[in-house]
Formats: sequence, C-alpha cells, structure tokens
Amino acid sequence: MACVAYQTPSGFLLTTLIRIKTLTSYLSASALGLVAGLTGYAAWQTSVLPDLGTFIPGETPAEIAHPDATLAAIVVITYALALALTNHHFGFHRSCPWILVSVVVVWGAGLVGFEFFSLDLLMLPLLLSGGCALLLAQIYRLWSLDRQLTRTLFNSSVSSAETEANSRLMSGLKLLNTVLPLSEAGVFRLDDSNTLEAVARFKGAPPNPQDPRRNSVWRKGIQLCQRAAKTGELVSETVQEQKSATVAVPLLHEGETAGVLLIRLASDFSTDDTALLEAVGSQFARNLERESFSKSPARSETLSFFSYGGGRRKLDALNVLKAVNVEQRCEASTLLHIDDGVAIAYLDGTLALVNPALLSFAGLTSEQVAKLDLFELLHKFRTDIFDEPEIAVRRVLQTAQDYEGELNFEAKGQILNLRISLLREADQPIGIAIHLKDLTATKEYEKLKSDMISLMSHELRTPLTSINGFAELLTVDDSIPAQAREFVSIIANESQRMSRMINTFLSVTQLQRKDKQEVLKIPLRLDEVVRDTIASLQPVAKKKRIRLIEHPAHRIPPVAADKSLITQAVKNLVNNAIKYSPERTTVTVSTALEAEAVRVCVEDRGFGIPAEAKERVWDKFYRVVREGQEKDEESTGLGLSFVREVVEQHGGHVELDSEEGRGSKFSFTLPRL
Ligand code: ADP
Repeated sequence: MACVAYQTPSGFLLTTLIRIKTLTSYLSASALGLVAGLTGYAAWQTSVLPDLGTFIPGETPAEIAHPDATLAAIVVITYALALALTNHHFGFHRSCPWILVSVVVVWGAGLVGFEFFSLDLLMLPLLLSGGCALLLAQIYRLWSLDRQLTRTLFNSSVSSAETEANSRLMSGLKLLNTVLPLSEAGVFRLDDSNTLEAVARFKGAPPNPQDPRRNSVWRKGIQLCQRAAKTGELVSETVQEQKSATVAVPLLHEGETAGVLLIRLASDFSTDDTALLEAVGSQFARNLERESFSKSPARSETLSFFSYGGGRRKLDALNVLKAVNVEQRCEASTLLHIDDGVAIAYLDGTLALVNPALLSFAGLTSEQVAKLDLFELLHKFRTDIFDEPEIAVRRVLQTAQDYEGELNFEAKGQILNLRISLLREADQPIGIAIHLKDLTATKEYEKLKSDMISLMSHELRTPLTSINGFAELLTVDDSIPAQAREFVSIIANESQRMSRMINTFLSVTQLQRKDKQEVLKIPLRLDEVVRDTIASLQPVAKKKRIRLIEHPAHRIPPVAADKSLITQAVKNLVNNAIKYSPERTTVTVSTALEAEAVRVCVEDRGFGIPAEAKERVWDKFYRVVREGQEKDEESTGLGLSFVREVVEQHGGHVELDSEEGRGSKFSFTLPRL
C-alpha cells in the first residue's frame, strides 16, 4: 500500500532551514580543507618543507623526479578536502581508522617511491595539509557546537536573570530588617580579582552622623567581609559598651563565594541567628549570581569559544540556571504541605512527586511509593467508575483534556474527586498531574442540606397550609370580636408570606440541583416575553407613577429556553426596578442582538446599589440595607438569585451596572439559536 506523507508549511520551513544549515556547514568544512591543501602545496612549492632525504635513513638518490606542479596541487588539495569532509561528516573518533590508513598509505608510498624509484610522491605536503585539514575541521566542529551551547545557555538564563535581580536584593535586606534590629546592611559582590564591590545597601534606624566612630566601624566591617570571603565562614564582632555588633556572612553558591552580606545590628549578635543568616545568605547568593549575570555585558557568542571572558560568562549563566532550579524546587515543595492529594509523573510513568496527603489517601508509605510507577499508584484508587486507569491516562494524553471522576469508597466511607491532567510547557506535554480532593465532608453537608430542603417542602408546608386555611376561615367568622379578627388576618397574611418564601426558596434550590439538560427548552422570542411582562406589570408601575417603557430591537432571533422560567426572571428584574425606584421615574426594558447572544436589559433611575453589595445581590437571602427605607414585607432576597440560576441554567450570564443614587442596569444574555 502506498503511503504519502504530508508536511505542514512550518515543518517544510524547518526542514529547509536545517538543509541550508547543513549545506553551509559542509561548505565551510570544504573551505577549511581547501585552505589546508593550499598551505601544504605552498609549503612544498616554496621549499619550506625539509628535504625527504634528511630524515629518511640510507643513501639519498642523486636525482629525484618531482611531479608536475598542477598535478601536485590537485593531489594535495584533494587529500586535505577528503580528510576535512570525512572528519566533518563522521566526527574525529569514527573517522580515526580511515585517517590512520590514509596516513600509512601516504607514508609507505612516499617511502617506497623515494627509496626504490627516486620519486617524490608528495609525502610531506600531503601529511602537512592532511594534519592542517583535520585540525581546522575539528576546531570548526567544536566551535559550531559551542555557539549552539552558548546560545541555548544564554537564552535560558537571560529570561531568568531579568527578574529584577537588584530589587530582589533590596527586598531581602528589608526582610532582614523586619526580623533583626538592623542599623545598616550591605551586599558586596566578590569579583574575579577578589575585590568587594557594593551592590545593595540598606539603612535602618538613622545613624548618628556626629558619631566619630561611624567611618571606622564601616572600614572594620569591610575587613570582616574580607575575612568571611576568605574563610567561607560567618564572622562577627560585638562592641559591648555600644551594645552593637557587626556580622559578615559569606554568600555561598555552588561551593563558591559569590559575595558577602555585611550587617550592623543595634544589639548583641546571638548565635541563634546564625542559621537564619545562612539561609537568607544562600538566597542572596542566588540573587547575586543573577545580578552579576544581568549586569555583565553580553559578549559575542561567536568568539566565546576562544575567550576566557566568554567561558566565565557561560559559567555565570550555568550558575543562574542552578539558582532557578533551587527556586523551582522551593515552588514544588509547597505541594507537600497542602491538604489535597497531588502526584506528578513524567511521561515515562516515573513518579516525580507524591505528596503526603495523596500517600494517606492511597494508604502507602513513602518507601512503598518509591517502588511504584504512575499506573501502579492509580490502581490503588480503582473503583467501579475508575476500573481501568490506563484508559483514562490514554485519553488525557490523546486529547490533552482533563479526566475527572468522583470515586466512592463505600467501605472506607470516603468520597474523593480525582482529576488527571496533562502538564504542558510552551505547548509541549511534559508530565501528568494527579489531583485528589476529599469530598467526604462536602457530601455530608450537601446531604444535610437536601434533608433540610425536603423537610421544608413537606414538613413545613403542610402545617403552614392548614394555619393559613383556618386563619382565613376565622377572618370571615362574625362571631369573633373585631380585634381578634384583625389578629387572625395578620396570621393569615404572615403565613401566606412564609409559604411564598418557602416556594421561591424551593424553586431556586430545585433549579440548582437540575442539570442544564433537564430544563425544557423551546424556541422562544425574548422581545415577546418582554412585551407580555411589561403589559402585566403596567398596573404596578402606574401605582407609583413610573413610566415603564420597552425598547425592542429589530429582528431578534429566538433563543432556546423554558418560557415560564424566563418570564419569571424578567418579571423579577422589572418588579425590582419598580420597587427600588422613587415615584415619577422611568424604567426601560430593552432587547438587543449581540454576536452570539440576545441581551435583555432592565434600566431604572432608582436608588442604585452600593459598590460593595454589587457582587452579593445575586446571593440567596441577600438584601441591601438602605437608610430611611422601611423594611419591605415582600422582600425575600431570593428574586435575583432565581434570575441568575435560571440564566445560567440556560447557558447565559447576568450582569449588573449600578451607581448608588443614580440607578441600576440589570441585564442577562442567552445564546441565540
Ligand atoms: P428582594 O427584592 O426580594 O429583596 P432580590 O434578590 O430581588 O430580593 O434583590 C436583592 C437586593 O438587591 C434587594 O434587597 C434590593 O435592595 C437590591 N436590588 C434589586 N434590584 C434592584 C434595583 N433595580 N435597584 C436597586 N436595588 C435593587
């Protein structure tokens, strides 16, 4: 079966670039071979090379036949070219046997030709040009490799060093000042010639400028720094009568002293602080490495192979990378302290990290987990819905989408939420993360809540209905005294209010428990819903002399929605706009078509909502408390939470824009059909 491989444009570009690079490198190797060949030929022509007879034992023939100059040039250059290209293509090690064979052949033929046939077979120019070709080609290979290495090294460390190295040094000094009574502190870098150069300085409590000892103390401090740099150990000196101390801490990174931290304390130095200073010192050392790397001028990558400075900078770059590595380990170690279970595996299945929480979920010790791989670990969490972990991992690797499942371990009475995700770095998959969250307590709480809801819906509603029914009966009973009838009608009203509240609460919670698919959706025109709602609320608005107007948009496409739920949501918004606006204002309801959605917007010139309450008005039972506004009997704090629930169930979202005292604009969008 024929198989055709297709290549993307970027793949094609990459292959072309690689081809051009390879071609250039072969051309360069050929040029070097040519130079070596010409050198050998020139040395032969100008008789710079010694006579063969001088170092071949035995009698030198009287007459020696030399080859023709053109032929000699061709032979010498071809030989040099062949050696240069062989070395370039196969590398020195692999081409060594061939080179040796060619040297033996040239040497042997030269010797035989000279001794027995009095012929100059170009032995010396061939050996000279061959040697030069090998040397130049090998230097060229090493130099190209070094350029590549330097570029990669600098690119990776420059981005890490750019994170404001100096500001981190200053931040470190400030941190020290919060834990120690600092009167002065400074960070010194130790340069190549072992001189100390100040890179950051911090002044704590203002020193007395009149103090004649100030300068001498600082000079003393520098001497302490030199001692600390030389010995690699912390040095301190306490002045008893002044109750102050000077401490020099060597800043060590990768076994080398990068600099010294000098601090002057306004108290004695306690050796208990040594560990603290050494820990902070190691961070300072990492920051210093960054600082010196970001400061030192970038030299040409091309010549760095031949220069001491270039080599030094590469070492600095490597130190920066090591510092970054330490900091990344610090980030990873935070995972050890969280309550959720976390494990990270490389793409070969080796476990890179398993935190103690996950160990306890799996019932393993760290020694046991060291012998496991990713799949063996996942098998510890097998349940009926997660019986083949391999399939889940395979799907994550294929689609790069998280796998999520709820694992119920009935025997242990534990419910865990498992998530397996692909870790990526610059769009390249680099590992797999496992995240386990203990849902046992949340589930218990949810069960309690649902028990409570069923209690409300059955146990509370039934007695309330009879209270309300009998109270209403009593209100029309003439045999009861008038005042008692008034009390009874209050009971009837309040019980009605209470059952309305319970009903709204139940409809919100029932909606929350439903899946999006469960809502019955039919094509619905929102402008019609708005028109009907406005018509039904016109009497309420008129009572407050509020102008309730509609701003319909032309050609509104339908949405897929449950008519009664959406109508109730719009009604809640318009009702609120009327309820929370003063008399003689306007409420405008508009519909508009947006890119992929239809928006309904209810705008009023009412009381508005304070900024701090904007997020919370959508919460259940939340009511804005306004000064001078008496408690509204009808208000439950459930209207807006119902709106949000309905809209989100339909795949839309709600928005609020409001300014206190100027009005509010509530709106929601639903995806268009
Ligand atoms: P309810 O109106 O039953 O109190 P809602 O959930 O509908 O409950 O509203 C929550 C709170 O948001 C209300 O207490 C009210 O103060 C405030 N609110 C709602 N709509 C508006 C509006 N259009 N203008 C000013 N405040 C509003």
